[in-house]
Amino acid sequence: MPTFRGGVHPREHKEATEHRPVETAPLPPLLLIPLSQHTGAPSAPVVKKGDMVKTGTLIGEPAGHISVPTHASLSGTVADVASLPHPLTGRPVQTVIIDSDGEDNLDPAIGEHNPEGFTAAQIVAAVRSAGVVGLGGAAFPTFVKLSPPKESPIDTLLINGCECEPFLTADHRIMLESPAGIIEGIRYMAMVLNTTNVIIAIEDNKPDAIQAMTRAAEGTGFAVRRLKTKYPQGAEKQLIKACLRREVPSGGLPLHVGCVVQNVGTAIAVRDAVRFNRPLFERVLTVTGPAVREPKNLRARIGTPVRHLIDFCGGYSGPLGRLVMGGPMMGIALSGDDAPVLKGTSGILALGPEPEPQEESCIRCGACVRACPMGLAPTRLISHIRAQRLDAAKAEHVLDCVECGCCSWSCPARIRLVHGFKYAKSELAARARRQ
Ligand code: SF4
Ligand code: SF4
Repeated sequence: MPTFRGGVHPREHKEATEHRPVETAPLPPLLLIPLSQHTGAPSAPVVKKGDMVKTGTLIGEPAGHISVPTHASLSGTVADVASLPHPLTGRPVQTVIIDSDGEDNLDPAIGEHNPEGFTAAQIVAAVRSAGVVGLGGAAFPTFVKLSPPKESPIDTLLINGCECEPFLTADHRIMLESPAGIIEGIRYMAMVLNTTNVIIAIEDNKPDAIQAMTRAAEGTGFAVRRLKTKYPQGAEKQLIKACLRREVPSGGLPLHVGCVVQNVGTAIAVRDAVRFNRPLFERVLTVTGPAVREPKNLRARIGTPVRHLIDFCGGYSGPLGRLVMGGPMMGIALSGDDAPVLKGTSGILALGPEPEPQEESCIRCGACVRACPMGLAPTRLISHIRAQRLDAAKAEHVLDCVECGCCSWSCPARIRLVHGFKYAKSELAARARRQ
């Protein structure tokens, strides 16, 4: 079965939610919508305190080539536009606070129309103005991926249905419950990219999703590919390697090997943008973990405070240790449950209290080297970084680290390897900016 070099197989922990259909979370009384939820420049606010908005109204316009608009996720009144800490980075970011009117009145521009006959440019424009970003977690603007430069022709569209992070099941449920919507979104993207070679890649721990997508893809020419269950199978470079045996060059992008990767949830957001002129103001995510009473897959509005979703899941089942946005391998710890759901939030993981593991000395077992899917030598990199030899770490390709966490997970000495690599990458980036 196709796969990639390295990687790990942590316990999946998906049983709590994989059989639970997606439920719609109740609307919150208040939304916090950061204007930086995507890779690239934050959007610039176009509303002010006191303005009335409808669900789907533009509240922030793109402020750069790599940027997308942001929309209100509920109707109501703008209570403030304030600089608040970003839930993931802690850095201040302009945030639109909306008091819901309880009506959920849709912006009148939203509605079904017939997109047959749309040109590629019209599809890309619809995706851009709907603020669609990659819903797998990276939140890269989708219209940019759909606009590759002429010198990089795309021959393959890869659709990522792997969902390799433990605990998360939102993509699994989307594939079971909305396969036709995914296929429609894929059709628009394949048309824009001018390719008929489409591969929908799904790990073999989701046989029901493989079956549902195979049935939905009948007659389209799209291939459904069953992949070995292994983390990080859903990372772009590993997915390309597994499906196409192509190697994205160091510092390169999938388009440099003729490929664009999109997530299954993103395909539905593209369908919504093109067919319904519907901005991305809600998404499906998994709220789970041992510290939440009733784990669920939820459809929630962007900007909903996490606490509101936890309450809908019956509250905390005991003392809370860590609250993570995303999965346990690549997710980011939140400072509190007042943080809002973002476009890139694939899950909320509530973990119980655990003692902080004590680091021991490296025993040179090589487990981290065997686990690294990027072919790096984490044990050497961390010794460079801890000795402040950042140039040496750079020469040994620390910038190629995808922060998957396989090395830390494998390390018997519990060395916080990936923390060191994140630090080195941000220091090197800051140094490059200064220069
Ligand atoms: S976090 Fe970086 S160094 Fe560690 S296994 Fe993943 S890619 Fe390799
Ligand atoms: S896995 Fe940990 S102990 Fe083993 S070589 Fe890597 S850093 Fe050292």
